[in-house]
Amino acid sequence: MRGHRFHLSRRGLILGAAAGLLGAPALAEGDAHDDAPRPAPRPKAPRKIAPAPAAAPISHGDPAVGLAPEDAMARLMGGNARYVADKATHLHLDPEYRRIVAGGQRPFATILACADSRVAPELIFDQGLGDLFVVRVAGNVVDDAILASIEYSVIHLGSTLVMALGHERCGAVKATIDALAGHGSEEDRDTKIGALAALIAPAVQAVPTNAPDRLDAAVSLNAAQAAAEIFAGSKPLRSRVLAGKLKIVAARYDLDDGRVSPAKREG
Ligand SMILES: [Zn+2]
Repeated sequence: MRGHRFHLSRRGLILGAAAGLLGAPALAEGDAHDDAPRPAPRPKAPRKIAPAPAAAPISHGDPAVGLAPEDAMARLMGGNARYVADKATHLHLDPEYRRIVAGGQRPFATILACADSRVAPELIFDQGLGDLFVVRVAGNVVDDAILASIEYSVIHLGSTLVMALGHERCGAVKATIDALAGHGSEEDRDTKIGALAALIAPAVQAVPTNAPDRLDAAVSLNAAQAAAEIFAGSKPLRSRVLAGKLKIVAARYDLDDGRVSPAKREG
C-alpha cells in the first residue's frame, strides 16, 4: 500500500442513503447452507506445490478464488451454519494447505469484527488459513487505518465481500451507553477508551432511550453504521459496490447460539 494516497471523508455517516445499497443479503434462515461448498477430499498422493505470486490466484483449485459477492456470502454463511450445527470441518488448517497459501493469499471475504475473545471469525464461519481477511477492533468501529486495511483486502487481494460484524452484549457498545448516560467507569479515566466510545456514540444516540433492548439495537445499528462508513469513506469500494463486484453488509453475531444474522438497521 506504500505510496498510495488516501482521500477519505471522515465519519461520513450516511446511514439512510447507504443502507439501501448495503442490502439485506441472502442470510435467511436455512438459505444457502446445505449446498455450501465443502472442502475437497485430500488427494492420496502429495500435490506438487508451486509458490504463487502474492497478487495472482493460487493455483490449487480452490473455488473461493474469484467468487461473485453472492457466492462469497453463501460460502461464508454455509460455514456459519456448519459451526452452529456443531459440524465444523476445520478446513484449510493442515500443513499442506499452509504451504499452499504461504505463496500468496486470496481471501474471499473481509470481516470487520469486534476484538471480543468470543467472536473469532475463522471459527464462527468455519474457515481456515487464507480464507478471510480479518480486521478486528473493540466495537468494530471504522477509522482511517481500519478502512485502509479493508480497502487493501478488496483492491489488492480480491475480496468480494465486506462484512461489518457486531455481536450480542458487546462490551464496547455497553460502555458507550453507560458513558453517554453519565455512568462511565472511573477506571477508564486517562485511557483512550473515550475516543473509542466517541466512534460508537452516533449509533447509540440513534436508538431511543426507551427501546426494549437498547444494547442489542445499538449493536446492530453500530454494525450498520460501520458498513455505511466503509461505503461512504472509500470511493474505490463504492464504485465496486455500484458495479455489483462487491457487497458491503452488516451483521450481528449471537453469542448464545453462534448464529450470524443481518443487522437490523432500525433503532
Ligand atoms: Zn464487542
